[in-house]
Amino acid sequence: MAEYTKAQLTEMIVGKLRRNFGRDVDDATPNHMFKACALVLRDIMSSHQMETGNQVWEGQQRQVHYLSLEFLMGRSLEKNAYNLGLLDTLKDALEDLGFSASDLFEKEPDAGLGNGGLGRLAACYLDSMTTLEIPATGYTICYELGIFKQKIVDGKQVEQADNWLGLGDAWLIPKVDETEEVRFGGKVVDHWDERGVNHPEHVGYTTVLAIPRDMEIAGYKTRHTNTLRLWDAKSPVPVDMSYYSRGEYLKAVEQQAMAEVIAKVLYPDDNHYEGKSLRLKQQYFFVSATVQSIVRQHRAQYGTLRNFHEKHVIQINDTHPTLVIPELMRILLDVEGYSWNDAWNIVTHTVAYTNHTVLAEALERWPQGLIENLLPRIWQILKEIAARYQRTLEQHFHGDQSKVSKMAIIWNGEVRMANLCVCACYAVNGVSALHSEILKQDVFHDAYTMRPEQFKNVTNGVDHRRWLSQINPKLDALVKECTGGDDYLLHPEAIRGLEKYKDDQSVLSQLEAIKKENKRRFAAYVARESGVVLNTDAVFDVQVKRLHEYKRQLLNVLHIIHLYNQLRDNPNMEFTPQTFLFGAKAAPGYHVAKKIIQLINSLSAQINADPICKDKLQVVFLENYRVSLAEKLMPASEISEQISTAGKEASGTGNMKFMMNGALTIGTLDGANVEMHQQLGDENIFLFGLTADQVVQLKNQGYIPANYYNSNPAIKRVLDQIRAGFGDGVDYNDIADRLLIGAGGSPADEYLLLADFDSYCQAHRRAIETYADRKLWNQMSLINIARSGIFAADRSIRDYASDIWHVPTRL
Ligand SMILES: *Cc1c(COP(=O)(O)O)cnc(C)c1O
Repeated sequence: MAEYTKAQLTEMIVGKLRRNFGRDVDDATPNHMFKACALVLRDIMSSHQMETGNQVWEGQQRQVHYLSLEFLMGRSLEKNAYNLGLLDTLKDALEDLGFSASDLFEKEPDAGLGNGGLGRLAACYLDSMTTLEIPATGYTICYELGIFKQKIVDGKQVEQADNWLGLGDAWLIPKVDETEEVRFGGKVVDHWDERGVNHPEHVGYTTVLAIPRDMEIAGYKTRHTNTLRLWDAKSPVPVDMSYYSRGEYLKAVEQQAMAEVIAKVLYPDDNHYEGKSLRLKQQYFFVSATVQSIVRQHRAQYGTLRNFHEKHVIQINDTHPTLVIPELMRILLDVEGYSWNDAWNIVTHTVAYTNHTVLAEALERWPQGLIENLLPRIWQILKEIAARYQRTLEQHFHGDQSKVSKMAIIWNGEVRMANLCVCACYAVNGVSALHSEILKQDVFHDAYTMRPEQFKNVTNGVDHRRWLSQINPKLDALVKECTGGDDYLLHPEAIRGLEKYKDDQSVLSQLEAIKKENKRRFAAYVARESGVVLNTDAVFDVQVKRLHEYKRQLLNVLHIIHLYNQLRDNPNMEFTPQTFLFGAKAAPGYHVAKKIIQLINSLSAQINADPICKDKLQVVFLENYRVSLAEKLMPASEISEQISTAGKEASGTGNMKFMMNGALTIGTLDGANVEMHQQLGDENIFLFGLTADQVVQLKNQGYIPANYYNSNPAIKRVLDQIRAGFGDGVDYNDIADRLLIGAGGSPADEYLLLADFDSYCQAHRRAIETYADRKLWNQMSLINIARSGIFAADRSIRDYASDIWHVPTRL
């Protein structure tokens, strides 16, 4: 069945060890062995690529280019072996060679080239696009340092550099001959020809080389192979000998250092705009190299760019790659010599935009001076796009300045990237039904009335092969047994077949046993890594995601303190043991978020040391939440906390990973939770809190959190405790003040924690009561798994393919 036998795979691995590392199996370290395995799988994928890539080339199909400044890939060895159908063969081969496959998988560093949901989504989509045999390429920056590693020291987050390339570069294939040149700075000189046409010339610029380091992407059960192209930055001049010869050695390497800093580090801000010049350099570097590379390949194949939009779609993941719009214009105008209208027609039939957030602080607005200095020709093109759009808007809205100013691309000295996308992209989509409605009704309302057919929804999905089958093998086996084989892996809807076992006591017991075993495994892992002993008899109640005020980790904390108070008041009360697990990185400059991490750790220390809480209440902050930790945690989770303020979370994807692993959700009607609720009905999810409409209403009528503090003794007590702090002597006045008074320009309790507190506590009580009814809980868990099929990334990609890209898919 598999393409290679164990003997063949063994021979290939041994050959790599010898040729690449000069080692025999006996003196190979696990690192050598990891690299040898990676190189073997890479070779297999490359040969598949040669084979199927040529078919795509000859078939002249429309290609998808997925541009994202983040791809949170995680680990690849196990994933690639799984997709190639070689996982069992590889494991056997490794055991025969005297290596533990699982130890080796564990050696691989996460490719952490992303912050959270947005970057992980891009990674899941690459898998699905490849599995569905769409000719697609991902593009990003080859950051030398990925998302920082988080250590907790004295309860506080400390960041360490994530130097992943030492081992991680085993997957990367340098393509030096496909290097592109990206130009920064300088100025534009006009050259008017005899016909009165201007030929602008960019002079005095600095060149940075963009060198591709390609990662092959294997699909599941297909030889179709796609590529993730990671751009590395290099200076064309290693040293400036004119400085060197004068003894100015640092000056001589300055240009090199300036170039290479572009690909040095991932910006660690999630859902937050960073208006730094280096970030703009990263964006343009990435976008210019990518567009040039696509254009070069297109020209080689077709000899003209006239049909560019018929053969390519460029999907941009949030506004970070928005400069593709003026960059493609620049090439069509200045290099090809097309007229403005011809160029604009091509661009506006090529680029499509996915919006990922409605948070004001995340909307990109670049100071025009920055763009003007760094990208003088791009600035000219932007001005022209903005001016023409302005005229269109004036006309369409009959000079209504309130609308025109809101939709303007350049306004008050700023370039608004989202408005540029809405102007130039042929499709704009949100990432859940609710979020796409908010885009149409609120954020882009006027644009929507102008061109309603431009607006689409594609609800996010996750790679269910990774997030269920691969990470939860026992559940995978049960699903296969109940649904008649592995059909569900390529047809995620087929998982619905599980539902007919909802009254089958044997299946329900198996489900419970699998969860229990996964909890034990996870607890063993945590004990090994940190020494903390998790109570596996307690409900595992989990909130893992980036730390953000809108995600309301603090609401979770308020509830835990409330529970703790009940226990203290009545130590002998009937109490279902609960273990609360948190995992979250905070952006290094986000002080409140960091303080909330510290608060969780203060509370954790207090509760875990209090004899009253023994075997009842436990709070654990898991260090360094990342893809590989999520993979261990999801199968062991029982309650999934998806508690963002309604209207704020665009979709969420963590919610889907939990659901397909049988955790039950305590959640607000926010993001994709709304669609989970549609699938599940009231009876299979624990909903609470205000709806998005009610949130808007409450804010409009004037929300006064102090009223809750004054009228609700439980809330008052919890907030007073937060203010005073816990056993470690750290106070949290600042956090309490944010809820009651507001600070730094943000209103008191901006995210309505106190308004939702009671409802949240009730949802917890319902969940805990339900947990006591083992049969009911297991039934609900089974139904969650069975109805998770629509949250597979394969479904999302089929939606993109049919509604936006207009490309065929297999299956
Ligand atoms: C899925 C995932 C996320 C996204 O989680 P949300 O709860 O949707 O915010 C973030 N980080 C990692 C490591 C993930 O795997």
